[in-house]
Amino acid sequence: MTHLSDHKIPAPLQRRQFASDNYAGICPEAWAALQDANSGHAPAYGEDPWTARACDLLRELFEIDCDVFFAFNGTAANSMSLAAMCQSYHSIICHSLSHVETDECGGPEFFSNGTKVLLVEGENGKISLDAVRHTVERRTDIHYPKPRVLSVTQATEMGTVYGVEELDAIQETARQLKLRLHMDGARFANAAAALGVAPKEITWKAGIDVLCFGGTKNGMPVGDAVIFFNHELAKEFEYRCKQAGQLASKMRFLAAPWVGMLESGAWLKRAGHANRCARMLESGLRDIDGVELLMPTQANAVFVRLPGAVASGLRDRGWRFYNFIGSGGVRLMCSWDTTEDDVAAFLNNVRALCQSGAGESAKQIHA
Ligand SMILES: *Cc1c(COP(=O)(O)O)cnc(C)c1O
Repeated sequence: MTHLSDHKIPAPLQRRQFASDNYAGICPEAWAALQDANSGHAPAYGEDPWTARACDLLRELFEIDCDVFFAFNGTAANSMSLAAMCQSYHSIICHSLSHVETDECGGPEFFSNGTKVLLVEGENGKISLDAVRHTVERRTDIHYPKPRVLSVTQATEMGTVYGVEELDAIQETARQLKLRLHMDGARFANAAAALGVAPKEITWKAGIDVLCFGGTKNGMPVGDAVIFFNHELAKEFEYRCKQAGQLASKMRFLAAPWVGMLESGAWLKRAGHANRCARMLESGLRDIDGVELLMPTQANAVFVRLPGAVASGLRDRGWRFYNFIGSGGVRLMCSWDTTEDDVAAFLNNVRALCQSGAGESAKQIHA
């Protein structure tokens, strides 16, 4: 890695950012496992010992015999698994803010040959079960795409987490409405760390048929796991992966990071750290006049409204973050490598800007 410093990398990218947890690099446990896997030859297309080990470790983690596949990213994992759960004349119900709807470029519809995505609302990024019920029951005729799957995101796109009781209620509603359950777990590790429960409590015991378990935002380079608790749905899934261009020939390099993260327990430890940084950031922001918290911080994201001049002042100082939820809303995301110093440095900048003219003009606008 030393040769990297010889090149000119723009300063803002050298700094750790709050833009997204996928801005972070590869965490040491995943990196070491990759290096380990990089010796000699191994059978291709998932026939290697690392892939077998990663699948076994996931079965151990979930305490059940599940079917495991690896895809390059979350969009593919979601799209392919949703397609496996539906016929083209079915529909998938999800939150209007879900990644499946807003950030996959129609992937789920494409891979399922046109299955329609039906949107529901709900507070704090969580689906409203009344809305789900209404969506299913308002029409039962042949002209309406038959609702077949309910997709929930854990942790949600708004940084909130479904608790065990909430998931039980979702399971009960899905059972009544004959919906299969899909979980987009791009940040499943953060949710598990936040709840402090065994992974089975928030997956198959809650009726989840398929989980897309994100590795990338947890600290791996690439490679999200598609986990079928419902064996029936996994039938011929390997063909779907291959056709979609998602069967890695050097599969060991998708699987090895999972081995490193699961054997060491880093998957949970690193996610817990990111969550703690987010709480630290939230409590600092809470004390600053002119900053408004928009969502409860339950995982590794903090959503706040910043005065426009403060946000642009922060960007001038090299900070990167995404705009979210309308005007002035920004998302701040912590990752496995966020430090207390990063949080303190960011807070110092926000405080200074809020106390200067940037904050003043904003206060007048708010008043
Ligand atoms: C990041 C993310 C994904 C996966 O995105 P890719 O860029 O395809 O890896 C899926 N769902 C959610 C909620 C995400 O935040």
